[in-house]
Amino acid sequence: MTNPHLSLDQKIVGDIYTSGESMENLSVLCDDFGSRFGGTKGERLAADFIKAKYKEYGLSNAHLEPFEYLGWERGEVKLEIISPIQKEIPCITLPHSPPVTMEAEIFDIGPGAPNDFDTLGDKIKGKILMTNSEIFPKKVKRWVHRQEKYGRSLMAGAIGFIFVNHYPGYGPATGGIGDYDSAGPIPGISITREDGAFIQRLAKRKGTVKIRLTSTDKLSKMTSWNVVGELPGTVKPEEIIMLGSHYDGHDISQGASDPASGVVAVMEAARVLAKYAGKLPRTIRFVMWGVEEIGLLGSYEYARAHADELENIRFYLNMDGAGGSPSKDINLHEWPSLQDTVEGYRKEMALDFAIGQAFHSASDHYPFLLKGVITAGIEAVQITRGGRGYGHTQYDTVDKVTLQGLQDAASLAARMALRVALEENWPASPRDAESVDKLLNQPDRTEIQAYLKRVKAFYKEIA
Ligand SMILES: [Zn+2]
Repeated sequence: MTNPHLSLDQKIVGDIYTSGESMENLSVLCDDFGSRFGGTKGERLAADFIKAKYKEYGLSNAHLEPFEYLGWERGEVKLEIISPIQKEIPCITLPHSPPVTMEAEIFDIGPGAPNDFDTLGDKIKGKILMTNSEIFPKKVKRWVHRQEKYGRSLMAGAIGFIFVNHYPGYGPATGGIGDYDSAGPIPGISITREDGAFIQRLAKRKGTVKIRLTSTDKLSKMTSWNVVGELPGTVKPEEIIMLGSHYDGHDISQGASDPASGVVAVMEAARVLAKYAGKLPRTIRFVMWGVEEIGLLGSYEYARAHADELENIRFYLNMDGAGGSPSKDINLHEWPSLQDTVEGYRKEMALDFAIGQAFHSASDHYPFLLKGVITAGIEAVQITRGGRGYGHTQYDTVDKVTLQGLQDAASLAARMALRVALEENWPASPRDAESVDKLLNQPDRTEIQAYLKRVKAFYKEIA
């Protein structure tokens, strides 16, 4: 097969693989600015840094788009076993956990398979539910997200939530709770696998474990920013190809792999594509999302504020953690009409990534998918792991990310964006509301859809 874009490909690939810029940028974001968690000084520094880099690289219209949201700041927390023994256990609260003082018994549901919440409902009521971070509990065939385990605990009448990291040696794992832009109605904390196992042994040997939980986290209105820059198209500037990643990490972490490896890969694609701006008939827009980690807030805000532009988005490629992803595949969020096109691109680029056809709701493509936008992600098509590993822990640090991983993601993104921008026979158009509804309610999603409806109504009722 001949490659119609061979000479541009050679320049782009050559430029990316002979530059260490992406790793430099990763160190600035993580080592200089820290977690970049919503509300921290480093968050704003990161937004300004990305904007300045957009300008340096020659992007147009580089700017911040501010938005308000319900922010959360970590306070002090104390977890004490008060019966059958007395012992303090180290723990962290989960973002959007409300401040509390409470005493209650623990109910251990294990990995948290959806069915167990239904059958054990009576035993959960009035207790603090304990579960772990396994993503396929009891071999359930879909990712059972922390938010779902929390939501099911809530609906079963739990008054608190303990999330046990199922990996040894990684400390506690964090992650937001609650319903997007609102606090969780019950407190959520996280403990290590080792302390979780201690509590299980204690319960087995000496009976029901009762704890006291005291926390002082603060909830308040905050401002975050989406960071936007673009290469305007020369022929059809109104048609947009978008690349993006969130830039906030969790406050206990550098968030190097998730998400900063994605941020710097998007920046690197921007840097090299800017050199060929005059050859791009359509606009390529680069957007870094604020506060994804506590509810995809930046991308939801963007989809709301830019509602009249969404139908002009040809393709959104989400790159959350793409540079650190174990494989750089293109996962199309159920766009079979694009399969042949992307297979063709793969062939002409002489690459061997997998092409997926599935979607999930756990990153910034989702607000756009809900509006019918054609979305995809650079992510592993086959999830071979049982969880996030060091992700969402204090060990997601710069040393886990390789320069080649960043280059691979940047190069793939730049070459894909180039192709979609030049493509005259783009065989997909956005879904209308009815098609989105059909997508969400297909037969193998019955269980998750039923849960989502229930929990949405539940949150509404208690609001
Ligand atoms: Zn992420």
